[in-house]
Amino acid sequence: MTTGYVFHPEYLWHDTGTSAGLLPANPPAGIQPAVHIENPEAKRRAHELIHVSGLLAELTVIEPRRATMAELLRVHTGDHVQHIKTQSDLRGGGDAGDGFSPVGPGSYAIARLAAGGLIELVTAVARGEVTNGYALTRPPGHHATADRGMGFCLFNNIAVAARHAQAELGLTRIAIVDWDVHHGNGTQSIFYTDPSVLTISLHQAGCFPPDSGWIRENGAGDGTGYAINVPLPPGTGHAGYLHAMTEIVLPALERFAPDLILLANGFDANVFDPMARQMLTAASYRAMTRMLTDAADRLCHGRLVAAHEGGYSPFYVPYCALAFLEELAGTTTRVTDPLAVVADYAAEPLQPHQKAVIDEAAQLVSRIGAHEIAAAP
Ligand SMILES: [Zn+2]
Repeated sequence: MTTGYVFHPEYLWHDTGTSAGLLPANPPAGIQPAVHIENPEAKRRAHELIHVSGLLAELTVIEPRRATMAELLRVHTGDHVQHIKTQSDLRGGGDAGDGFSPVGPGSYAIARLAAGGLIELVTAVARGEVTNGYALTRPPGHHATADRGMGFCLFNNIAVAARHAQAELGLTRIAIVDWDVHHGNGTQSIFYTDPSVLTISLHQAGCFPPDSGWIRENGAGDGTGYAINVPLPPGTGHAGYLHAMTEIVLPALERFAPDLILLANGFDANVFDPMARQMLTAASYRAMTRMLTDAADRLCHGRLVAAHEGGYSPFYVPYCALAFLEELAGTTTRVTDPLAVVADYAAEPLQPHQKAVIDEAAQLVSRIGAHEIAAAP
């Protein structure tokens, strides 16, 4: 078994600029200038720990390339792609669409390198050159819709890779699991009427986007039943997430029988994250990853491809990413989670209000398969 790994320094050069976390800096209003919350630090440190731990030497490094216009247009409108290019060409950069998603000078090319990196990884997996893989890409993608960037996302990397897999690689049935703490709204919207792509999002209820990701959002038309949302209450930790994996994600994957599993791999459900209020630890990500790799082994020859999404604690994301990638590669390194002590309070027993939501969402699993899967578009 070999695990592919995609990274490029340009991913860290996507410049989200001076900011007060989320807000534009505004000194006259008392909003102090600092860095944007989506800055390179968590990803840079994750990559460096993967290197320093010795894990990188065990991986198959795959060089990214820039996604072509035709590849982007399988998912995005021409107007949206042009908008990102126009903003990227501005001397001071611009915004991807919602006023909170900076596009730095040159970010158009970098965003294409992120989407293209995931395409190259999916291609290597489809050809059997590697069993599975991780693309530590930036900017992230799962909030971007067909016609708009939002939530720090420019292009929907995972959707572009899914469409490429269907169009070029003979992989028809794609399951996208999204455990970023925020709702994978962009991915869901792109595939909402398409039964060939199952989307399952585990996220903090009502976090971002604010009114999005509810259980009632279950697909439409031929895609009815093929969008599953698990809006977990704030404070959900290890036990709650594992219950959701066991009761929803794994049985949904069994029922759907994918050719490929894609993972929108946000680490912002970790207990230290400033952008949400969930309580996972590196051990949680390790355990959830084991579940997904086992499912991929059973269902689709191990084909599991992860794309980096959120994760905003530069101090803790690297340990979550390392645990995830160790498990994906079926190995361990000398580095252990130095903050593992928090697992003592983050692995609290499953709470009744968490169980109620998960058990309600689990009812949706039986709706998968109500429609024949159409041929790849
Ligand atoms: Zn997120």
